[in-house]
This record gives sequence, C-alpha cells and structure tokens, in this order.
Amino acid sequence: MDFSAKMFKDIPSVVRYHFANKSVNYPMGIYITIVHIVAAVGFFTIPQCKPETLIWAFILWPISGFGITVGVHRLWSHRSYDASLAARIMLMLFNSIANQGSIYHWARDHRVHHKFSETDADPHNATRGFFFAHMGWLYVKKHPEVVRVGRELDFSDLSDDSAVMFQKKLDPWFTLYMCFVFPAQVATYWGEEFWDAFFVAGALRYCIVLHFTWFVNSAAHLSGDHPYDVLSYPAENPFVSYCAVGEGWHNWHHKYPFDYAASEFGISSQFNPSKLFIDVMAFFGMVWGRKRATAAWTMNRARRDKNIAAGVPLPKPAPRPWEVVDMKKEL
Ligand code: ZN
Ligand code: ZN
Repeated sequence: MDFSAKMFKDIPSVVRYHFANKSVNYPMGIYITIVHIVAAVGFFTIPQCKPETLIWAFILWPISGFGITVGVHRLWSHRSYDASLAARIMLMLFNSIANQGSIYHWARDHRVHHKFSETDADPHNATRGFFFAHMGWLYVKKHPEVVRVGRELDFSDLSDDSAVMFQKKLDPWFTLYMCFVFPAQVATYWGEEFWDAFFVAGALRYCIVLHFTWFVNSAAHLSGDHPYDVLSYPAENPFVSYCAVGEGWHNWHHKYPFDYAASEFGISSQFNPSKLFIDVMAFFGMVWGRKRATAAWTMNRARRDKNIAAGVPLPKPAPRPWEVVDMKKEL
C-alpha cells in the first residue's frame, strides 16, 4: 500500500492541479469538511453524555453499518438475495441513519465500481492512491468516464423499488434527519440533552462509520491477500471486516459479487455479522433466495490446482503504480 512520504509530498501539487483544472467539488468538499468539524465537537462532548447515550451511539454503528452492507450493498447493488417489503423498509431506514447518499445513487456508483474497477471509470479508483480511494474522490468532480458509463448501465430494478424511491424523493432531507436528528430525539427519552446526543450519537458516530465504509474502497483495495483472484486489486482484509461489519473479504467479493455472504467461509471462521443478520432475516421469512458462490469457487480452485500440478504458473499481476515508481528509482 502506498503510504510513502511521496504521497504526502504530492498533496500541494494535487490540490493546485484540481484548483487550476476547476475540478474541485465544492458542495461535497465543504460538506465532508463540516462533518469532520462537527464530529470533533462530538468527540469532546463524550464526557457530558449519559452511559445510555454512549451505548446508543455504539449500537448505531452496526445498525447503520447493516444499512450499508446488508441493504444498499448486498441487496440493492448486487441483488445477492431477495427481500420482502418489510425487510426493504427496515433496511432503507437503517441505510438512512448511515446517510451515505440515497440508495439509488450509492448502488449506481457501486455497480460502476465493480464493472470498471481500477480504471478512470471507477468512482474511487484505487490506482490513484490511498487518499483518493478513501475520501479524496468526494472532494473532486467525477471523472467524465464515471459519468459516461453510469448512463449506460440499467438501474430499472432500483426505480421499481418503492422503498428506494421513497428515500430518493426525500433526498437529502430524510437521510439528514435520520442520521443526526432521530438519534438525538431517541436519546431525550432517557433524559439526555438533545444537542449532546446530536453531536455524539449523530455526528461522531456518523463520521466514524463513514471512515469504516471508506476503508473498503481504500485499505481493502490496497492491502491484504488475494487467494481467489491474484490479478485483482481487492484483497482479503480482516481489519476492514471488523470495522465494516464483515465487508472486508474483498478479493472474494469482487470475484463473486453475487454471493450474499461476501466471503468464502461461514461466520465461525470469518467475522461477518452482516451474513448473520441476513441469515436471521431468512429464518423469520423476511428474505429468501440467498445466493452463494462456493460451488463456483470449488470448480475454479480445482482447475487452478490442476494447472499448478501441471507446472502452469499462476498469472502474475501487473506492478502497482507505486511499485512502478520505486522500480524507476532503482534504475
Ligand atoms: Zn471494491
Ligand atoms: Zn460490491
């Protein structure tokens, strides 16, 4: 992963380039900056909060996390299982607490990300470095290729989903309310000050979960093992899995995006509360048609092992951009 001094030394020239190129996304850049300032206020508000509020803020991490992983990612972006209206409404509410843009726009960008990973058409192209893949992409306007290919894909299944369209119609006011105001209103029931809960269970929790999600695009695309597809950037990253409630098994996920578990193994050997949550919903009949890719992988692995036994070497991935720079330095 590129954490070289060069990455930090490049910051002024990258900022100058985007100013000169008029490619700064001012509204989103200002919003993300304000979010971090308000989250910092939340951090210093922690000592004033009641224990119940801190527990509430902690519980909102998996709740809003599931709104992303179980909801907009595994259901709406990848259709890895089918869900009843009740399940979709619940996941839409969870997703609104996470406040990462509407389900419609998140799923659109994510389908583009999978189809064009590590190219100009990838909204958070990891070949542009850790910071760009993590949050830098929100500070600049979309690459024209992202916009172009986004128009070519079919999103009619999203338009046909009443839960998705309800949230889209009220965007961004409904998600802003659910993310910041709703957690504070709940906390007033145990006598918490509205603004203390607003800053801690709302803003601080929101900002932390944002970074946990962004780690999937940055750390899990740049660091970890590649047991399922040696040629792809996405990697198996346990740290990201802990942060993102089971969404860091990213080499498997990019190889088999239709798999509802987004990982090879069950929850006893790979941390994956999102899979558990889907299984619990299935137990209660709220979801069905859970797709798995283990049979496809068994066949692929047998083919790979046969090739290795026959002396055919594994394909070699192209050097990463920062490795190319290092190699040039060595010459
Ligand atoms: Zn990815
Ligand atoms: Zn995905």
